Amino acid sequence: EYITDENTLKAIDNLDLQVKEGEFVAIIGHNGSGKSTLSKNLNAILFPTEGNILINKMDTREEDKLWDIRQTAGMVFQNPDNQIVATVVEEDVAFGPENLGIEPNEIRKRVIEAACKDSGLEDFIKEVSLDHVVGQNGAMLSGGQKQKIALARALVHDKPIIIFDEATAMLDPSGRKEVMKTIKRLNKEENITTLHITHFMEEAVDADRVIVMEKGKKLLEGTPKEV
Ligand code: ADP
Ligand code: MG
Repeated sequence: EYITDENTLKAIDNLDLQVKEGEFVAIIGHNGSGKSTLSKNLNAILFPTEGNILINKMDTREEDKLWDIRQTAGMVFQNPDNQIVATVVEEDVAFGPENLGIEPNEIRKRVIEAACKDSGLEDFIKEVSLDHVVGQNGAMLSGGQKQKIALARALVHDKPIIIFDEATAMLDPSGRKEVMKTIKRLNKEENITTLHITHFMEEAVDADRVIVMEKGKKLLEGTPKEV
């Protein structure tokens, strides 16, 4: 147990947050305001020392629910290097489903589906799943390419909730636009509940709700217009 007294900084402090199925919530706030800590709590990577986190009614502190929680809430992180676990890109995109025992053909189908769902994603298809990138070493890719692989991985899992923690931070403006288009379409058409942590106001402007965090607390909450 952590010792919490007046000298202890709480990364998340008395935060009350409910997200509805299918909602698109943008979370903004200065560096150190607790956004990443919040997202890791939602994915059961970190656990609250006080209070509860419920993902589809499953409490993250129930150990036997961990697997189900992580299959329900997927994450795409700020730093894609942390998620490139395989050396070969194709293996990397397939890594999660292989571990879940999904057939290779089904994996390929899902990867291609995820990549092809949006007609504006030709670059995404080229870079992530199909041609010249396949067989390349993951470490040789650009930050933007790695981030797209991380996104593709989140998509092939078919998870109902995805938390994006500054997932567009390393992309150039056109890559960012492309990825945002996919994120938004998945939210609208596939009803994927989306928590989008971002520094870019133009990415928060289309959200159903915007939350502004400061020092672990919710500073503001409302529609993009209100905020
Ligand atoms: P944000 O994502 O909004 O930049 P973080 O959730 O990363 O904020 O950080 C919230 C607070 O928790 C900051 O004060 C940060 O310094 C602190 N913090 C984050 N990770 C750790 C850690 N592993 N150990 C100690 N303090 C941490
Ligand atoms: Mg962060």
